[in-house]
Amino acid sequence: MRKFIFITGGVCSSLGKGIASSVIASLLECRGYRIVLQKIDPYLNVDAGTMSPFQHGEVYVTDDGAETDLDLGNYSRFTNMVLSSLNSITAGKVYKSVIEKERKGEYLGKTVQVIPHVTDEIQLMIEELNEKEKPDFHIVEIGGTVGDIESVPFLEAAREFFLSRKKDVLFIHLTLIPKIEVAGEYKTKPTQHSVGILRQIGIVPDIILTRISGKLTKEMKKKISLFCSVDFNDVFEAPDVDNIYELPLIYYNQGIDVKILEKFNIEPKSINLSKWEEISKSIKDSKESINLFLCGKYVNLNDAYKSIYEAIKHAGLKNKTKIKIHKIDTEDVETNIEILDHIKREADAIIVPGGFGSRGIEGKIKIIKLARENRIPFLGICLGMQCMTIEYSRNVANIKDANSEEFETNGKNKVICLMEEQKNVKNLGGTMRLGAYSCRLAKNSKVYEVYNSEIIYERHRHRYEFNNEYRKLLQENGLIISGVNEELDLVEVVEWPDHPFGIGVQFHPEFKSKPFDPHPLFKNLIEEGLKYKKNKYNN
Ligand code: GLN
Repeated sequence: MRKFIFITGGVCSSLGKGIASSVIASLLECRGYRIVLQKIDPYLNVDAGTMSPFQHGEVYVTDDGAETDLDLGNYSRFTNMVLSSLNSITAGKVYKSVIEKERKGEYLGKTVQVIPHVTDEIQLMIEELNEKEKPDFHIVEIGGTVGDIESVPFLEAAREFFLSRKKDVLFIHLTLIPKIEVAGEYKTKPTQHSVGILRQIGIVPDIILTRISGKLTKEMKKKISLFCSVDFNDVFEAPDVDNIYELPLIYYNQGIDVKILEKFNIEPKSINLSKWEEISKSIKDSKESINLFLCGKYVNLNDAYKSIYEAIKHAGLKNKTKIKIHKIDTEDVETNIEILDHIKREADAIIVPGGFGSRGIEGKIKIIKLARENRIPFLGICLGMQCMTIEYSRNVANIKDANSEEFETNGKNKVICLMEEQKNVKNLGGTMRLGAYSCRLAKNSKVYEVYNSEIIYERHRHRYEFNNEYRKLLQENGLIISGVNEELDLVEVVEWPDHPFGIGVQFHPEFKSKPFDPHPLFKNLIEEGLKYKKNKYNN
């Protein structure tokens, strides 16, 4: 069938274009159509890998090792799509490719220009993914806000794409209807302006989706319809919600998927929404609550641990449990020891997530010791697992100066060290150990119980590793090495002995969790948290 839907954003950023795109894709998938989602980021970085989480939130990693925008995480959580590097286009990637072609002389003496060479390259990248996936619906989310200088070549490419396939292309524009608090009024003017800019570029939206904190009234719809030249029934509402997994049913009830099919002249197939109905029910049925402490360095920025927060939510839904997440900046723990008492009193489960650099590390190690000694359910992810190894080496195996090479290059006891193949790496972009690797789990371990599988595949993004020179010594001191990559002989999972749930993983399980299929590590952590809480009150 090969239909294309371009989703653009207006007024301002952070309106939830990625989620809107994912929800629309999910509804079409629930009708039995094959869908694919693709993200365009107008920044000049070739990928998101070199960007700080403070700048751009989490870096989402695909199985094939692409370091991408966090919206790909949303795509993966709402649909059954398998994502790869082709699902992510950045201006950097486009320009790199154009310049490489120019150097090879592929433009045959022509002056290389934004139009047509850059815009052609963008269209080629869309077509390449389309050719590979052969979807019924190909949704392209154009990042940034209409009116930004950086977005112009991408919008122009979308316009050109439309010119060659008019009947197969649809434009959805997501805007904001802000409320002027003093007047108590919602304003459609910014939407009118943003559609105006889009029309100047030559794109006429077919559907307008409005982000609004209250109700989108008939009057507002009429106004938008009149000033933006869309049909009254082509204006939809993207409301604020407490839980994003309620959105598929909310969008469905407005009929947005049927409207899209109608515009393409496609007779809708029947829809099966049972998985979203179940999720909705779980949201309502969640009663019990636990306190989960997330202890890291980027806790002040909501998007920095996006997939972890979502994976926790999924695990909560499965256990019908509301999870109160307490965010602890581990740097604060270093100066204010009272935080440790607070964690000890309140925590039912603790996560130390991934990260880079030495800031807050000693605080993490203190929290890990607390979790180990007080038998609080604990999950260490990537850097969290590395810190778990350091803590165990120092406080149990008595290697007092144990550290990671990342924090102490010339340390004597580097229990975490730079991988062999990382030693000569000069460029930082795209050179970590990235993407899916296999891991064999030890049969009598806790982690085996969790996965119920001997071989697992999980995604990686790191340069440092458990140092095999310390493997024997740490094992003799009780540390359980329960997961290993056999090919490279790398430790992937460590566990505490005599502890209900103390697991550290070198990989990132959060990337694979879905609302209707929560990741077993998170699911089990929450189960153990519930047990821990019960025991706490029984004793
Ligand atoms: N900084 C550590 C490393 O590079 C851990 C990375 C991470 O947590 N993703 O190995």
